[in-house]
Amino acid sequence: MSTTAPSETNLLPEVATFLQQSLHKSFVNGEWFESPSGQTFDVVDPGQGKTIATVTALQKEDVDAAVDAAVTAFEGSGWAKMPIGERSAALHRIADAVEERKAAFAQIESLDCGKIYAQAVEDIENFIDTFRYFADLAQTINYRSVIAVPRHEAWVARHPWGACGFIIPWNFPFLLAGWGLGPALAAGNTCVLKPAEDTPLSALYLCHVVQQLDLLPAGVLNVVTGIGETAGAAVAGNPKFRRMSFTGSPEVGRLVAEACGRNLVPVKCELGGKGAAVVFDDVNISATASKLVGAITYHAGQVCCDATRWLIHKDIYDEFVAECAAKMRAVKIGYQLDGGSQMGPLVNPVQRERVLGYLEKGTAEGADLVLAGGDASVEGHSGYYVKPALLAGSLDNVAAREEIFGPVAYLAPFSSEEEGIRLANDTDYGLGNSVWSNDLQRCARVAESFESGNGWINAHNVVVHGVPYAGIGKSGMGGGVVSPETLNDYLRPISVVRPL
Ligand code: NAD
Repeated sequence: MSTTAPSETNLLPEVATFLQQSLHKSFVNGEWFESPSGQTFDVVDPGQGKTIATVTALQKEDVDAAVDAAVTAFEGSGWAKMPIGERSAALHRIADAVEERKAAFAQIESLDCGKIYAQAVEDIENFIDTFRYFADLAQTINYRSVIAVPRHEAWVARHPWGACGFIIPWNFPFLLAGWGLGPALAAGNTCVLKPAEDTPLSALYLCHVVQQLDLLPAGVLNVVTGIGETAGAAVAGNPKFRRMSFTGSPEVGRLVAEACGRNLVPVKCELGGKGAAVVFDDVNISATASKLVGAITYHAGQVCCDATRWLIHKDIYDEFVAECAAKMRAVKIGYQLDGGSQMGPLVNPVQRERVLGYLEKGTAEGADLVLAGGDASVEGHSGYYVKPALLAGSLDNVAAREEIFGPVAYLAPFSSEEEGIRLANDTDYGLGNSVWSNDLQRCARVAESFESGNGWINAHNVVVHGVPYAGIGKSGMGGGVVSPETLNDYLRPISVVRPL
C-alpha cells in the first residue's frame, strides 16, 4: 500500500467516491442517520478554502437517540459480555482494516484538517497502534482481584461502565478518536463520538469501513456530527452516559465539565497548553534548533503540547535565536497534499485571524518580532496559510501567556537552572515541557521539577503507548490517555465482601 503523497488531483478512487456523497450522514445504531431538522454544515479543505463535503448537523433529540442506541447496545448487543479475547480480536480486525486502507484514511485526514500528508499517515498509524495496544492490554489485566483481609472474603471485580461520550477537536481528529475509542471499546463499553465540525470525515470513513466489514455490533460505535453548541452540548449534557471524555479548549472544557457535573457523570478533560523548552548552554545549537523548529511547525503549530515558550540559556541566546530564525525561514509552506510541503495551512480562517491577532497583540505589548510571520500565499491554493513567527521579550506578554495554536514561538533568556525551572512553571497550563542538555542528570532533575503532566528530555511532543499522558491546571482534569491507567478508567470497580 503506497503512502507517498498523492497530488490533489490524484485522490484514490475510494476517497473520491466517499467525498462525492451529496450529504454525509451521522452513524447511529449501525445505520446512516440524517437529522430530520434538515440542518447541515460544510466541511472545507483548509489548503484550498473550498467545500469538500456537506454533513448533517444533529440536534439535541438526534444526539439523544444516538445515546439511547449506545445504551441499548451496551445492554443487549453482547459486546459488554463478550469474552475478552473475542472483543480484542474485533479491535485487531478494526486495526487491520484501517491499516489496509491507510492511504485512503490519510488522504481524507490530510484534506480535511490541512495537515501535510506524511503527518496524516503518522496519525493513522497511531490510531492502529492504539487499537492494537488496548486490544492486547485488555487480555492481560486482572478483572477480579482477591484482597487478603482478616475475617473476610473480599475481591474487586471490574466491569465496563456503559455508554461513553467523546467530544474531540480538529487538530488530530483520527488519532484522538483512537485514543478515546480504543480503551473504551477494549473494556467493553459502547461509544458516542462527536468529532469537531471542521473535521468529521475520517471518523465517518471509519464507520463506513466498520459497517461494510461488519466489524462491530450495531450501536457499539456511534458518530454524531454537528455544531459544538448544539450537538456537542447535547453530548455533554446527556445524563445516560457513564463516562465522558472531552479534548479541546479550556473554555469549552469548563462548559462540558459543568454539564457533566450537574449529571454526576465522571469526565476527563484533556485541554490546551503553553509548553516550555528549557535549553541549556551545552546543547548542539543547530540540532536543538532544528528539533524545536520542527515541533512548532508540525501541523502548523496546532498541537496542544507544543513548546511555545523557548527558554534559552543566556550564554547561547543570540546564536540560538539566529539559528532558529534561519531554520524557520527555510520551512517550505505548501498545500498539504503536495509532497514537497513541510508546513500546511491553518484549519480555518478563524484560526488564521487568531494567530495573526496574537502577533499584533504581542508586539503592541512590547514583544520584539524576531521573525515577522504573517500571511503566506501558496501559488494556486487560496487556503489559510501563515508563515512561522518568533517573538521575544517579557514573559508577561499576552503572546507568552495565552495559547496561540499556530507556528509561533516566544523566546526569553535564563541564567540558572532554578530560573529556567521557575520560568517554565510560571503558567496556568501544565501539559508538556522539555529540557535540553548533554548533562542527563540535570535533565532528569529539571524534567521532574516541571509542574506539568509530562516532562521530556532532549525531545518535545513525545507520546508513547504505555506511558501516561495527561495535563494539569488549565491543561486538563481527571485525564490521561494511552496507558494502562486509561484502560482502568473505562472499567467500573465493584468491591464484593463476605464476613467469615
Ligand atoms: P474546542 O474546545 O473549540 O472544540 C472541541 C470540541 O468541542 C469540538 O468537537 C467542538 O464542536 C466541541 N464544542 C464546542 N462548543 C461546545 C459546547 N458548548 N459544548 C460541547 N462541545 C462543544 O477546541 P478546538 O478549537 O477544536 O481545539 C483546539 C484546542 O484543543 C486547543 O486548546 C488544544 O490545545 C486542545 N487540545 C488538547 C489536547 C490534549 O490532549 N490535551 C489534544 C488536542 C487538542
